Amino acid sequence: MIHDVLDELKNELPPTVKLVAVSKFHPFEAIVQAYEAGQRVFAESRPQELFAKEKQRSELVKLEGRMSDLQWHFIGHLQTNKLKMVLPYVSMVQSVDSLHLLEAINKWGSDNAKVTDILIECHISADQAKQGFSEAELDAFVNSDASYPFVRILGVMGMASLTDDVNLIRGEFRHLVALLDVLRKREGTLFCNEISMGMSEDYRIAVEEGATIVRIGSLIFGSRN
Ligand SMILES: *Cc1c(COP(=O)(O)O)cnc(C)c1O
Repeated sequence: MIHDVLDELKNELPPTVKLVAVSKFHPFEAIVQAYEAGQRVFAESRPQELFAKEKQRSELVKLEGRMSDLQWHFIGHLQTNKLKMVLPYVSMVQSVDSLHLLEAINKWGSDNAKVTDILIECHISADQAKQGFSEAELDAFVNSDASYPFVRILGVMGMASLTDDVNLIRGEFRHLVALLDVLRKREGTLFCNEISMGMSEDYRIAVEEGATIVRIGSLIFGSRN
């Protein structure tokens, strides 16, 4: 089942689009199944859960030499007091939703000698409760000249509104694409080119609008409890 969906997605997605399997709320066994079907990048949204699953993974690596090339992305709200449960284990934090968090990740990196790849999460949906840099915050960041040597800003991430209105979703994704251009005024265009958008319900629209990363959970693993 997991294997079949991953095969279909692999056939459907253009080779330029990276599939991140969102395994939050699903047991570690589901991750093993997806890994055995060839999936390598997984995303979690809660520090505790990521930490627990990473522990299971590292046991498997130690005992059986399996899953050593699995990569974790973090995609949830990250409180600065939880950094040590997340940053040592992830290849990317996609959900840097405030300057405060970006500064804390940089500080942690300085203290621990690790450069963290991140995406700037931008608020693009009509839902006010959603996280992320507002356009004004992004502008302020782009116009500041502070430097953060322990983060590498690789692009933007966003979530569209939860709606059936395809035109609204499409417009929000286009907005995110435009925000990458804003960010590149500060970061340059060499490394800063990722656009993480699209989930189970809207990834096709996201791909049409230029996503480089899609984050798909329930389509692969089934609905979450
Ligand atoms: C849960 C989650 C996803 C995956 O959502 P699905 O609808 O299950 O595909 C993608 N991105 C973020 C930020 C999430 O929290």
